[in-house]
Amino acid sequence: MTPATLPQEGESLVARTLRTGFPRLRFPAELEREFVTEYRASRRHLVRIGVCLALATIIGLAILDRWLLGADAHGVPDAIRFGVHIPLVSIAIVLTTQRLYRWYWPFVHLFAPLYGLATVLLAVHAEGTLTSYIYARLIIAIFFFYFMLGLSFTAALRTNIVTLAGFVIAAVATGLSAQSAIYLSFLFVCANLYAGAGCYWLERANRVAFLDRRLLNEVATHDGLTGLLNRSALEGGIHRIWQQAIRDGVVVTVVMIDIDHFKAYNDRYGHQAGDACLRDVARAIRRAAGSRPSDCVARYGGEEMIAVLPGADRAGGEQVARAMLAEVAALAISHDRSLTQPHVTVSIGVATMVPQRGSSHDRVVRIADRALYIAKEQGRNRHAVLDESDFGEATSVLTARELRA
Ligand code: GH3
Ligand code: MG
Ligand code: MG
Repeated sequence: MTPATLPQEGESLVARTLRTGFPRLRFPAELEREFVTEYRASRRHLVRIGVCLALATIIGLAILDRWLLGADAHGVPDAIRFGVHIPLVSIAIVLTTQRLYRWYWPFVHLFAPLYGLATVLLAVHAEGTLTSYIYARLIIAIFFFYFMLGLSFTAALRTNIVTLAGFVIAAVATGLSAQSAIYLSFLFVCANLYAGAGCYWLERANRVAFLDRRLLNEVATHDGLTGLLNRSALEGGIHRIWQQAIRDGVVVTVVMIDIDHFKAYNDRYGHQAGDACLRDVARAIRRAAGSRPSDCVARYGGEEMIAVLPGADRAGGEQVARAMLAEVAALAISHDRSLTQPHVTVSIGVATMVPQRGSSHDRVVRIADRALYIAKEQGRNRHAVLDESDFGEATSVLTARELRA
């Protein structure tokens, strides 16, 4: 699961959805898409078993019709059995194979109501008293739609409403006895209530479990104070970005950010104020970094942050760095012990590299770190850029300076 970045306000979409609830069994669009994808993928085997059972049931009922009920096995009933029910279920079985599974979903939304209406037709064409027996199959169909096809509660409910509407129309059109019509209607409504309630609560429980898993993942991958990705998620994220950039042949820019005179800020305003400042600066940094899903903005440690921007070249990295400086300045957080400005500022190091096969992202991070050091050296509240070619030179210059310091 790719760790998503928390929204600006601090509370993630997942946490908000868990808090506010989802009575209509629907998440906000982005989350809904992810839930549906995950749910469908995890249900393939169960759905396959469900449609195989349906085929076995149809065959079993065909045998019962002929031998026990003595039903007229020819003409329309056989046409429905062999022309509609069995082909529909067989196609569904084929579509539950791994390779074709994505086609199962559009198909099942058509298949389920068609299957229900075909069952009603089967009952209409049954002989005399057998009609009620055949209609009774709809009870199995109701449970089948709610539980066996992987349909959402809403889709299953829709399917059952279509089927029951078909039953009502057929009952009126064929003059089904009032006694049978009332009895069967009562059974169908009860079956819908029980199975529908079960399906609703099952889907609800699945959705809550999905949100819980997501929330757990967020807690494990995000820093509690700033809401940015934490160090271990950064390692995974930057590795993925690097490998993808090698495949795509694109540059990667790393931006390292460090709050200036932050120790003095803590000493002057207290640790809690320091935490609040760190949180505000982190949000400003994330705002300035933009919201491309491929980017990775993390807390690197202490009051240091890092943004990894695949596809951003040197100019793009500098643009982001300037935006970060401006966003932090706009916060105007007073800092009367800062030797740079009367408000909180940051220093930024930018490094860009074209990832080569077999190379590691460590180097570009080290170059960005070195660039940050240069920005500090040059007076803070600014950004500095280093290319790979400058790195050796800068390293020796700075090492000499560091030795002098
Ligand atoms: P420079 O301008 O050179 O970066 O100076 P600095 O004071 O910012 O850097 P230094 O590394 O000396 O101090 C970093 C401070 O950041 C020290 C530490 O107490 C503080 N800090 C690190 N993490 C946190 C945190 O989570 N909350 C708070 N309040 N302070 C933190
Ligand atoms: Mg600092
Ligand atoms: Mg620092």
